[in-house]
Amino acid sequence: MKDIVSAQRRYFNANHTKPLDFRIAQLEKLRAVLRSNEPALEAAIHRDYGKRPFETFLSEFFLVYDEIEVAIANLGTWAAPSQVDTNALNQPATSYVLPEPLGSSLIIGPWNYPYQLSLAPAIAAIAAGCTVLLKPSELTAHCSALLAELIGQTFAPDFFAVVEGGVAETTALLAEKFDIIFFTGSVPVGKIVYQAAARHLTPVVLELGGKSPTIIAPDCNLAIAAKRLVWAKFLNAGQTCIAPDYVCVHRSVYLAFLNCVVEEVERAAYDVDAGNYVRIVNERNTERVASLIEPAKVILGGRYDIAARTIEPTVMRDVSWADKVMQEEIFGPLLPFLPYDDLDALIANIKDRPKPLSLYLFTEDAAVKQKVLAEISFGGGCINDAIMHIANGELPFGGVGDSGIGSYHGEAGFRAFSHYKSVLDRAVVEDPEVKFPPYTDEKLALLKAVVGLGG
Ligand code: NAD
Repeated sequence: MKDIVSAQRRYFNANHTKPLDFRIAQLEKLRAVLRSNEPALEAAIHRDYGKRPFETFLSEFFLVYDEIEVAIANLGTWAAPSQVDTNALNQPATSYVLPEPLGSSLIIGPWNYPYQLSLAPAIAAIAAGCTVLLKPSELTAHCSALLAELIGQTFAPDFFAVVEGGVAETTALLAEKFDIIFFTGSVPVGKIVYQAAARHLTPVVLELGGKSPTIIAPDCNLAIAAKRLVWAKFLNAGQTCIAPDYVCVHRSVYLAFLNCVVEEVERAAYDVDAGNYVRIVNERNTERVASLIEPAKVILGGRYDIAARTIEPTVMRDVSWADKVMQEEIFGPLLPFLPYDDLDALIANIKDRPKPLSLYLFTEDAAVKQKVLAEISFGGGCINDAIMHIANGELPFGGVGDSGIGSYHGEAGFRAFSHYKSVLDRAVVEDPEVKFPPYTDEKLALLKAVVGLGG
């Protein structure tokens, strides 16, 4: 491990990754190896947790290819120096900001979108001109092994390598010095990564999780909201960092909306064998999610099979903030409903909790939109939809507070792996004597006049 880390540092220091042609060629190589191995990649993710090609294309490949396209098309613009004004004190000169790659990057991936959440940060790192050491999640072992094999066949390990493993291997990696660590995963492990990074003063991007609320305002189109919400929730069986975690519905439309949601779940007929539903990643998580089900509150679903790692799409009504299901991120196919009467009280309740990764608001009322956006801090989200903000590469994606630090996708990803070097480039001319000793009252008055603070 140490050898790969130091080989990558040497490779970076030899400036191999800096030419834009090199970066574009590597992105093209990545796209080519993924495209020509799609059947194997689809088979691996299916073996890991039953995910089928349609969902794999939509929620893994599509986003990865899109990131590659956008990076290749825009790299010249992103990497160009940008000129800024030069103040009077420094004239004559030009001033500019020069993006430069941070250096060697460590990317630690989660299991829940094992390709997208490992490769999208890698694409940003390559575009920015960094080397990449990727550690995918050990929980999706077939995906991890295949990524290691394909990356190993395609790239020089000095530039882009995969290290497989779990806690022990990640702990060993975190002892090394990198120039940036990009972590996607849970809040507790995020804290471990942050502490390890602090020992080397390494900057981090932490893409974490948490409970993402949905608010259904009384004016909203219930049928459309239910269709979009149900799709977003049960995609990947709810194992999505930005899945709607719980739903707060105005009491005036509470029962009507519940009916729409139940109808929509029944219409979708989620079933692993039908190819529109997946298994829970392992037995431990199946048990954890199942333990959050409160049978008396279940109005749809509720059954599970620990050995088969399946949990039915489950709708729970009249849940309260004190219930067990409201104490942790669900990260599974349970959808708890809470009625609300007063938007101000609801906003206060949400703000009493850690800042969410996402928030979804269903309304066409401009005043309600403005109020929620102005008053609640959250990483990102949608109005009249759920999770789809992740699919617009123009929108930086990331959390705030407990849900994360930093963001990526498109140019935001390039920025995350770059340092913006500020340069003042002075003309070589005789300097006015004003800033040089001896310091006199006349010079002080002149200096104040030059910077606009004269009396
Ligand atoms: P996790 O934190 O358990 O694991 C993530 C990575 O950290 C894995 O590669 C794992 O091997 C490693 N790891 C685990 N324990 C470690 C330890 N003690 N020391 C060092 N490394 C360790 O997360 P997960 O179960 O893979 O993913 C689920 C969580 O990730 C959820 O909370 C979810 O919300 C969050 N998530 C966030 C995003 C996002 O983009 N913000 C995306 C997906 C998942």
